[in-house]
Amino acid sequence: MTKTWDAVIIGGGAAGLFCAGVAGQLGKKVLVLDHAPVLGEKIRISGGGRCNFTNVHSSPANFLSLNPHFVKSALAKYSSTEFIKLVSTYGIAYHEKHQGQLFCDDSAKQIIEMLMSECAKGKVSIRNPVSVESIAQDATGWNVHTNAGIEKTKAVVMATGGLPVPAIGATAYSLDIAKQFGLEVVDPRPALVPLSFTADTFGNLNDLAGLSVPVRIASGSKGHRYGACRFNEDLLLTHKGLSGPAVLQASSYWVEGEPIHIDWLGAIEVEGGFNCDALFNDDDNRLKLAETILSSVLPQRLAKAFAEQRNLGGRKWAEVSKKDRQALKELLTNWSVKPAGTLGWKKAEVMLGGVDTKDLDGQTMMSRAHPGLFFIGECVDVTGHLGGHNFQWAWASGFVCAQAL
Ligand SMILES: Cc1cc2nc3c(=O)[nH]c(=O)nc-3n(C[C@H](O)[C@H](O)[C@H](O)COP(=O)(O)OP(=O)(O)OC[C@H]3O[C@@H](n4cnc5c(N)ncnc54)[C@H](O)[C@@H]3O)c2cc1C
Repeated sequence: MTKTWDAVIIGGGAAGLFCAGVAGQLGKKVLVLDHAPVLGEKIRISGGGRCNFTNVHSSPANFLSLNPHFVKSALAKYSSTEFIKLVSTYGIAYHEKHQGQLFCDDSAKQIIEMLMSECAKGKVSIRNPVSVESIAQDATGWNVHTNAGIEKTKAVVMATGGLPVPAIGATAYSLDIAKQFGLEVVDPRPALVPLSFTADTFGNLNDLAGLSVPVRIASGSKGHRYGACRFNEDLLLTHKGLSGPAVLQASSYWVEGEPIHIDWLGAIEVEGGFNCDALFNDDDNRLKLAETILSSVLPQRLAKAFAEQRNLGGRKWAEVSKKDRQALKELLTNWSVKPAGTLGWKKAEVMLGGVDTKDLDGQTMMSRAHPGLFFIGECVDVTGHLGGHNFQWAWASGFVCAQAL
């Protein structure tokens, strides 16, 4: 007699392996199928090889989705605290980097090994590389057709992730299956992705490649699909324009053809708060050079480049008219720059869009119209900010799905 699985999970990445381990340990008979020869490749390359596996502050405010409330239930049922406990049980050493981001001290491979051990504890069967050719439903349940035969199952969990980094096997398979069963798909778009700029946008700032400055960055707009954002993050000047965490965060909200806005003085942290007006009006500064005043709050080379952009190089503050001071303040606090585009799927960390949450039950991740068909992880229209939130979504969505299987 053919074996019937409780669940066949398609995709053995972060969400798929985690879901499989939890479901297996709840006594479910689970099979994971993946087309890649090696599992968990995105985990391996994540966080520069150290995997930023969660964020202690992860909350619904850290996610973009057409329905921002959708993540609430899963994140409440499986928070970053739960995942940190699991990591600690395995004795994996980690550290907090920036704004609650947790990274392995040693290697991202430890997270993959942990997920594999959890699967082994749950007696999960894993088969790869296997090609899934089609998925169909009949009166007896679900049939997953593969190049190695047909698997019968009570439930199918789609966990094939998003489109970034096609070189390691990213596909749109979950989206294709969603469409096959009549679920809506929100147009996918690269996110947490470097933006490209035309060569003449930056003038003398191009000479400062390698400089990293904390800034306040804003992009998007209220009327836009995912709204607008404001982040305090590090901006990296490069030969080709701007990069670093600030630009990656802004990219998820960026609307093609619109500028992003940079406040070079917006992330300055001083006791009692930074007073921008005082800096530009202070009469005590009368005898100082414009670039000297700016270098009290900006790296010296950047201060000089901005003063030169306004023809204030070598001029004392007393010689700078009110109008010129105002123009300099505007340049520094509301610097608008129009990106030409993004560097696309090859360089993106995550996918914006995916299976529309209105067709899924947020308590279980199951299709509302097709009981037994689940979607978890990045293939769903839920995209985290930079900083461990995308993995937290993979764990949380995988967990609630496993409970429901
Ligand atoms: C360079 C990089 C760095 C990142 N760093 C971080 C970080 O530090 N912190 C963070 O939170 N997020 C990070 N991310 C994002 C994070 O990796 C993803 O959001 C997360 O892996 C999504 O989990 P998932 O299980 O949905 O998909 P994945 O982990 O991508 O797993 C999908 C699995 O499905 C398989 N698959 C695909 N198509 C098919 C198919 N047709 N048939 C069978 N199997 C298939 C794949 O082989 C893969 O094993 C990073 C992403 C990238 C690209």
